[in-house]
Amino acid sequence: MSPRPDLGPKPRLGYADSRIERAAELRNDTTALDKLAADRRAGAYVIGGELIVAKKAAPLSNPLFTMQGASALAPAMETVFLGRADGAARFGVGIAPAAAEALKTRGDLLVTDLRSIAMQGLVDAEHLPPIAEAKAVLHWHARHRFCPNCGAPTQLVAGGWKRDCPACKAEHFPRTDPVVIMLAVDGERCLLGRSPRFVPSMWSCLAGFVEPGESIEDAVHRETLEEAGIACGRVVYFRSQPWPFPTSLMIGCHAEALGKDIVVDKTELEDARWFDRQEVTAMLARKHPQGLTTPPPVAIAHHLIRAWIEDEVSFG
Ligand SMILES: [Zn+2]
Repeated sequence: MSPRPDLGPKPRLGYADSRIERAAELRNDTTALDKLAADRRAGAYVIGGELIVAKKAAPLSNPLFTMQGASALAPAMETVFLGRADGAARFGVGIAPAAAEALKTRGDLLVTDLRSIAMQGLVDAEHLPPIAEAKAVLHWHARHRFCPNCGAPTQLVAGGWKRDCPACKAEHFPRTDPVVIMLAVDGERCLLGRSPRFVPSMWSCLAGFVEPGESIEDAVHRETLEEAGIACGRVVYFRSQPWPFPTSLMIGCHAEALGKDIVVDKTELEDARWFDRQEVTAMLARKHPQGLTTPPPVAIAHHLIRAWIEDEVSFG
């Protein structure tokens, strides 16, 4: 069946394929970081909690400020070195959420949440990975101002990639939370579910956090069984996606369904059911007779579903 020209070229996955070279070797070199920040080509993404600040423009707004432009917006709470793009430094500047909220009154600025920016394509897609990087690490800083070990105030070091506790000498590193997201497949059918949080008519892959002591495969098995009552066998890794809401890493997999009878966990899902290839193809193409849809291309679920439709999934 593949390829599927009717579905058009494969879209870009949101927040992934970063062009940022992280240059981790510079993180502890404050002289080098100061020099990079002083370079006129340096740029900063400005974030206040869930809000991203951009310079309003048509057709695309610009979320990359000069260092001076960023500091003129609001006082920086934390500044993180994201890395370099085309040799120029990129920083994430965290401002107070209230300060970002106050910037909404300015007509020259777009101040909104990252989901809206990504879903509506309000900025060049190239900016999404560094914004995701900045948002996730700044979120971590905002919640680790005190040492989890002894309660003393911690200090940002290493260009924002560590916090040190001066009292007990503990070192704290930014974390990311693994989430499995999987498309369970039963021959010519796949399993999709609906969360009550979804926009009406959208169906997606099941997903859940990987728990401590659990492998990716075990998490896929457990979540699919818990949410839909479907036992799975073989699990095949597809690809992953940073998901900065707030600090997740989505691990996309296809799973071979062993059971057929769905039992929906109504505390997690509004509904779950099998979809055949024809119906899913119509959903991907936004041509479903009842208006049902898959998630948009910014989400890895779209790509997991499309890969199955395009016969790219093999359980060996
Ligand atoms: Zn401590």
